[in-house]
Amino acid sequence: MILVNEPDLNGNELKYLTECIKTNWISCEGSFVKKFESEFAKTVNRKFGIALTSGSTALDLALHSLALSKNDEVIVPSFTIISPVASIIRTGATPVLIDSNLETWNMNVEDIERKITPKTKAIIIVHIYGLPVDIDPVIQLAKKYNLIIIEDAAEMHGQTYKGKPCGSFGDISIFSFYPNKHITTGEGGMIVTNDIEIANKINSLKNLCFVPERRFVHYELGWNARFTNLQAAIGLAQLERLDIFIKRKREMGKYYTKKLSHLKSISLPLESTTYAENIYWVFGILIKPECKLTANDVIKKLAEKNIQTRPFFYPMHLQPVFTKMKLFKNEEYKNSEIMANKGFYIPSGLNLTYQQMDIVIEALEDIFA
Ligand SMILES: *Cc1c(COP(=O)(O)O)cnc(C)c1O
Repeated sequence: MILVNEPDLNGNELKYLTECIKTNWISCEGSFVKKFESEFAKTVNRKFGIALTSGSTALDLALHSLALSKNDEVIVPSFTIISPVASIIRTGATPVLIDSNLETWNMNVEDIERKITPKTKAIIIVHIYGLPVDIDPVIQLAKKYNLIIIEDAAEMHGQTYKGKPCGSFGDISIFSFYPNKHITTGEGGMIVTNDIEIANKINSLKNLCFVPERRFVHYELGWNARFTNLQAAIGLAQLERLDIFIKRKREMGKYYTKKLSHLKSISLPLESTTYAENIYWVFGILIKPECKLTANDVIKKLAEKNIQTRPFFYPMHLQPVFTKMKLFKNEEYKNSEIMANKGFYIPSGLNLTYQQMDIVIEALEDIFA
């Protein structure tokens, strides 16, 4: 089986993990945690990094820290993983959806302004699959309407927007270290920010809102979202090789692009935009409308050839869980639906060989020629 993704753990991961075991420091109090937080924050030009149990938890705590109320609205793309929208709903606020662009697969920033109402409090930018959202217009809107920006950079380690690191924009940015992300810690996530009040708040929320005066007395409800020394050990070793990982991802992206661009019935990820060069977190493929095949058809055919794939995200306005909550009734986001029906991504793990890529390319040629 050619797997859709596999992490590369061939750096100092084992060495640092061994150090944890030998010194008996495996909990969140171990010294690798602080080190990983500060090193990671530095790579994205942020003052504070707070490591957490997952990217989804990072979104939960980020949204919670804004103290939103029931009537507040938060703008977010329909084409995303469920996490940011779930986090909005858990605060009691209302998600307001935006459609996405069929070429960049990112949210249509030009649609945001007409969705802003007096109730709008924040915008969540979600960078998708390897190219960032066009951030400058969002920052302008946030200034004009006094809105908070949360940047979901879960897929963007090592990416930049106009030369500045993704994760350095917005009031709060979050990352994920799930095994298919550019840097993994098994499970894990991080909030980065320059605001000390937000950082303090998140540090309290992640640790059950303990207070220094008297342990086991609480004034607020928090979470246990603590990150272990074991995770940080792996994270530090991964971070040391981020540049190599990004270089490798880009090489794979270029190779697939070169070999697949003659297939007329599919569109490939944009190699670049005016503001960024693709880092190919995943290598997505969108089947063109004139081709009758759906992503599901192609996923099945590739599975028969032992090639693992994943479908694109499923739009938030069509999620059964939200329909049950009577959210997004009669709303339509056409491009998000097209991407869900026609999009899938192919193997692009860091250990993938050119030989394996050739097998994938041949299989796609068989299907689409
Ligand atoms: C992976 C991902 C998340 C969630 O991260 P987890 O660590 O898996 O919880 C959130 N947002 C985006 C855009 C992601 O790709």
